[in-house]
Amino acid sequence: MVAVSVCQAYRFALEPTPAQERALRSHAGAARFAWNWGLAACKERYEAERRWYSATHLHKLWNAAKKVDPELAWWGENSKCVYQESFRDLDRALKDFIRSKKGERRGKQLGFPKFKKRGKCRDSFRFSTRVLRCAANTVTLPRLGMIRTHESTRKLARRLEAGTARVLSATVSRTAQRWYVSFVVEVERKVPERHARPDSAIGIDLGVKILLVGADHAGDVVSIPGPKPLRVGLRRLRRASRAHSRRKPGGANRRKSAARLARIHARVANVRADALHKVTTRLAAQYETIVAEDLFVAGMTRQRRLACSISDQGFGMALRMLAYKTGRRGGQLILADRFYPSSKTCSDCGYVKAKLALSERTFTCQACGLIIDRDENAARNLLRLGTASGAETGLAEANACGAAVRPEHAGLAALNQEPGTAIVGQTGTATRQLVAAGKVLAHAR
Ligand SMILES: [Zn+2]
Repeated sequence: MVAVSVCQAYRFALEPTPAQERALRSHAGAARFAWNWGLAACKERYEAERRWYSATHLHKLWNAAKKVDPELAWWGENSKCVYQESFRDLDRALKDFIRSKKGERRGKQLGFPKFKKRGKCRDSFRFSTRVLRCAANTVTLPRLGMIRTHESTRKLARRLEAGTARVLSATVSRTAQRWYVSFVVEVERKVPERHARPDSAIGIDLGVKILLVGADHAGDVVSIPGPKPLRVGLRRLRRASRAHSRRKPGGANRRKSAARLARIHARVANVRADALHKVTTRLAAQYETIVAEDLFVAGMTRQRRLACSISDQGFGMALRMLAYKTGRRGGQLILADRFYPSSKTCSDCGYVKAKLALSERTFTCQACGLIIDRDENAARNLLRLGTASGAETGLAEANACGAAVRPEHAGLAALNQEPGTAIVGQTGTATRQLVAAGKVLAHAR
């Protein structure tokens, strides 16, 4: 066993009183205001000098302005921490924009940060002070006081009491009329040096309707369909989003259908997160090595007709869960490079097809005549890519593309997940880890 320190998120649904709810809205408004205020200043400077104000600099400017500008007289109604955190977010968004522009950032190209409009953006704000407490069924936040939670906070409270955990930040956000608080906590954890089932491995192909198809070292094929509530939810979501797009922009019906859509969305995300938790826990226990496609490819090659935010969110979530769950058990998650054609390669002879339409659910090899389910074929390729050495399999060039994400310290994947970002999911489960800054692992080729 090796002791490692990891970041973990605890998320609770809140049950604020009407007065507290008003205060929550006020804080969210303040966070938005501070973002817009800072962005206006940074934009002006960026246009003139190609540089912006750092978070600390903005905070200084804000402190000076709030004392003299009568329009900012309300600032004291909200915790000053909220403004500060907004400036930090803005600073990071600007840095990401520059890195994306220079091609140093993975994923889709980012634009210059945008102004946040009430009702159009996510209501959220963050605290990063030490005066965050939780006990029994409550959490205590600066300025907002003690707020009741929907479920028990005991698990976290016990850790804090015992001194085995330290709160780094708390993010409060609203999803479809419900407020949540998400604590990012640093915890000490004991991790075995080797997995209980050494040399076991599985390649997995992630999907939406079918959660995943896997092929393991013993030649078994695992197919895990999404639970029924998820399939029903996805159908409902599709219908609701079609209905929503038919409503006239700006109308009352449009507003109503948007709220309905958000509710269904939240529900589907919860069900999906729950299902993913179950299956990833099982996989991490059964296999030392899990090989999957990079999030980027997974998102790109799939049908986009399904609410794409749902599918992207799901893939990211599944990979994060696998990364930390394998890490905890001494296993590893390996991500295939985005250029590896896992769907188009024959898992038997290695022949690579030039094209494979998304609608083709069966893979038929022109070279050796293999006929196999598309997802199973991809899973087999991923398994081989992650486990065997090139010489043994004749897939030398493919093997060279494998990007190993070895959870050396924290059991975390090299995903762009920032501490403080809430993950939509089941509340109260105290097992969601986020990637800690500085603990991102090698994504070597
Ligand atoms: Zn073949």
